Amino acid sequence: MMKPNIKDLSFTEFETYLVERKQPAYRAGQVWQWLYQKRAVSFAEMTNLSVSLREQIAKDFAISRLAIERKADSSDGTVKFLFRLADDRSIESVLIPEAKRLTLCISTQAGCGFGCAFCATALLGLKRNLRASEIFDQILEANRTLDGDRRITHVVLMGMGEPLANYGQTVRALDVMTDTSWGIGISPRRITLSTVGLVPQIQKLMDETNINLAISLHAPTDEIRSKLMPVNRKYSLRQLMECCRALPIPRRKRITFEYVLLRGVNDSAADAQQLAELLLGIRCKVNLIPFNPHPGSEFERPESRDVEQFQQILYFHGLQVNVRRPRGDDIQAACGQLQGETIAEREGAAGRC
Ligand code: SAH
Repeated sequence: MMKPNIKDLSFTEFETYLVERKQPAYRAGQVWQWLYQKRAVSFAEMTNLSVSLREQIAKDFAISRLAIERKADSSDGTVKFLFRLADDRSIESVLIPEAKRLTLCISTQAGCGFGCAFCATALLGLKRNLRASEIFDQILEANRTLDGDRRITHVVLMGMGEPLANYGQTVRALDVMTDTSWGIGISPRRITLSTVGLVPQIQKLMDETNINLAISLHAPTDEIRSKLMPVNRKYSLRQLMECCRALPIPRRKRITFEYVLLRGVNDSAADAQQLAELLLGIRCKVNLIPFNPHPGSEFERPESRDVEQFQQILYFHGLQVNVRRPRGDDIQAACGQLQGETIAEREGAAGRC
């Protein structure tokens, strides 16, 4: 039988394990520092523990890791990792270098069950939720591939899957990412979670953590949004906006609204006007994402003058707007292009068998 992965225990669960074995509780901090700060891959490395304790822990637990199945480098410096999970499923993470930051975009589910009409991950359906260890291990493994002093500075939960549909494991992973005494130690201000808009979980997350929130909006009306995002039939725009208005967002922070621009679907001047009205009075910024095409998609990217017009209208209404440049689109690493192994590749593989 496979030994349990030590990284799937919470800090307090491991403390309890130690105390039950007549060990001092502070050893939990030492072991956790080895795992998450010194990134040990074996118990033998943990030299401030007695040999007998190391042996005991090694008898009871494994230190499992994500396997890097493939790494693709984009001409713009973006790197896409395909990770293989223990049950042979695969997930992707994307490393995005910018002037002063190094951002990792991580996955929280294998596949996704929300069925957004324009998204490549949706075509897979939901395979399964990731465990907390599989979520934060993406950071540990990507960090290992960097040379010298380079470190991941920012994390976005914007890869495959819907983080708030895997709430418990995502929050456990956030604990490991943010803890400064034994964890990876990334400040919550440098972490952003993106959601399709699960209202009760948004409220819970904002009560329980200090990370930044991004909401995938993509339409100014229920009519358009329900066509693009089936989740809108469960939580309407009115419910979502009411929730956003009531969130306790600290003064220096803003909610990010993401809006993928689809030619002829949600990119008109009237759409921009309605969007501005919808967002009236919410401290926010808008990220416009011109659609990134992927095999099997029926949508098109708008003309750049339509993108500019859309941006101008929002700007005119006093909104802060960014147009997101596609990063890594030559390696299918841009927003909405993550599929693990693509369907085409899988079919190809089946053909070869
Ligand atoms: N499930 C979460 C996390 C995924 S974030 C969410 O939906 O927010 C990925 C972002 O990329 C989302 O805003 C998503 O709507 C957007 N996206 C999906 N497909 C896209 C595509 N083909 N082109 C551009 N953006 C896309």
